Amino acid sequence: MPPPTHRSTVAIAGGGLAGLAAGCALAEAGFRVSVFERRPYLGGRASSYQHPGTGEVVDNCQHVLLGCCTNLLDFYRRAGVEEKIRWYEKLTFLEPGGRASVIAPSGLPAPLHTALSFLGADCLNFRDKAGISWALTVLAPATPVDRGESFLDWLKRHGQTEQAIERFWKTILVSALNEDLDRVSVPYAAQVVRESFLKSAAAGRMGIPTVPLTELYSTAGDYIRARGGEMQLRAAVESFRAEASGVSVTTNGREQRFDYLVLAVPFDVLGRMLPDTASSAPLAAALGQFSTSPITGIHLWFDRQISELDHAVLLDRTIQWMFHKSRLIAARENEARENGAGAGSYVELVVSCSRSLVEKSKAEIVDLAVKEAQEFFPGAREAKLLKSTVIKEVHATYTPGPGIDQYRPKAETAWPRVFLAGDFTATGWPATMEGAVRSGYLAAEALARSGGENADFLVADISSTGLMRLFG
Ligand SMILES: Cc1cc2nc3c(=O)[nH]c(=O)nc-3n(C[C@H](O)[C@H](O)[C@H](O)COP(=O)(O)OP(=O)(O)OC[C@H]3O[C@@H](n4cnc5c(N)ncnc54)[C@H](O)[C@@H]3O)c2cc1C
Repeated sequence: MPPPTHRSTVAIAGGGLAGLAAGCALAEAGFRVSVFERRPYLGGRASSYQHPGTGEVVDNCQHVLLGCCTNLLDFYRRAGVEEKIRWYEKLTFLEPGGRASVIAPSGLPAPLHTALSFLGADCLNFRDKAGISWALTVLAPATPVDRGESFLDWLKRHGQTEQAIERFWKTILVSALNEDLDRVSVPYAAQVVRESFLKSAAAGRMGIPTVPLTELYSTAGDYIRARGGEMQLRAAVESFRAEASGVSVTTNGREQRFDYLVLAVPFDVLGRMLPDTASSAPLAAALGQFSTSPITGIHLWFDRQISELDHAVLLDRTIQWMFHKSRLIAARENEARENGAGAGSYVELVVSCSRSLVEKSKAEIVDLAVKEAQEFFPGAREAKLLKSTVIKEVHATYTPGPGIDQYRPKAETAWPRVFLAGDFTATGWPATMEGAVRSGYLAAEALARSGGENADFLVADISSTGLMRLFG
């Protein structure tokens, strides 16, 4: 590609994935990018830091991706970190008591690739499986339109048993969408099911970072710097003033002028940042329609290995996923190997849509989580808990409820030189790392095109395989 010739300046407010993705795309296209991030580190809601209570570097929460996250993978390729993702084909569903059902792809064509293991899964009975198979058949051809119905009502209308809802639909969708099924719209639920279960085996494989999140995402900052940009940390954007010829941005009391501005902050921060003018009113009203849901991560350090599994889905209890961090994070895995069999376990237990935990104390949550973990992992009954912490992200992600799409704003704003990015913007994806990166690429495309450039940053969706090709 010929070297970019123009050097228009772009301020990006927010060093989360949306801001970083926009910054990488624009820096590569020749814009001079300045990222302003309020915190002392990059990554936003997908970040890690030295936890003061435990002395350990912890992720704010375990983050996973799927093979269908094509834009996130493109972003990893740019930042040179795609090798830092470990991929898993199998999911282990554990019942209290420890009985395991493993869902894994076979050689059958999509959407039947997981059918054999699904039919053999002990955690569901024949009626559950028959109902689920019927619902998947209805969802396979196309994503239904939003008619204001919740996915829970849709499931009931499609004859799902209580157990199928609890053990299959809730398990997959509450962790993917971070919301109860009675607050999830049908298209978002259907999209998750189609992308992750039906399209192809490659689309559904699960990726887990082998390094702490900020280590993963600070590389995007290096990418922008290497292309003439800058990262300003501990730099909160307070306000902006859009004019015909540029945008003035006030950060830590200092006003600076840029050719363009990308606002890549969470929707509530954006709402507070908007100028008090008539032009802001429609956007402010739309942002007022969003609500959020919490996620809680319980980090436990035991004196010994409590499981041979790297991760597991946990059924019928408050805790929903186990991530065996001492096996997942490369540096910790090496440390454990050097220490031999006596090495301990660092485990994160994740509870999505954790409204029931928000008011509970750390001690209550740890107590509950350890008791439940002992039901799934016999090894945890003998193990001594060395230390623990609980990280509650009270406003983790927006609720993908019926009707929300009409309020998700596009990248373009009422101000021709100001653009929006963020997982809540109109990407068609739920609040995920993929959604955030898509929003960043879309904002970068809109900005570059507004200056008359031919910009294509967004990467195509993963292709369907097998019989799913019949549906496009
Ligand atoms: C607990 C938890 C678990 C999750 N698990 C997953 C998962 O497993 N898989 C997945 O795909 N997604 C997951 N997500 C969702 C994913 O993390 C988010 O959708 C994504 O990171 C959002 O990126 P963003 O850039 O849109 O927003 P953010 O990450 O919120 O970025 C916004 C940035 O703006 C900064 N900022 C705020 N105010 C200002 C200001 N005034 N000036 C400058 N900067 C400012 C913030 O500090 C932040 O860095 C999870 C989210 C949470 C919270």
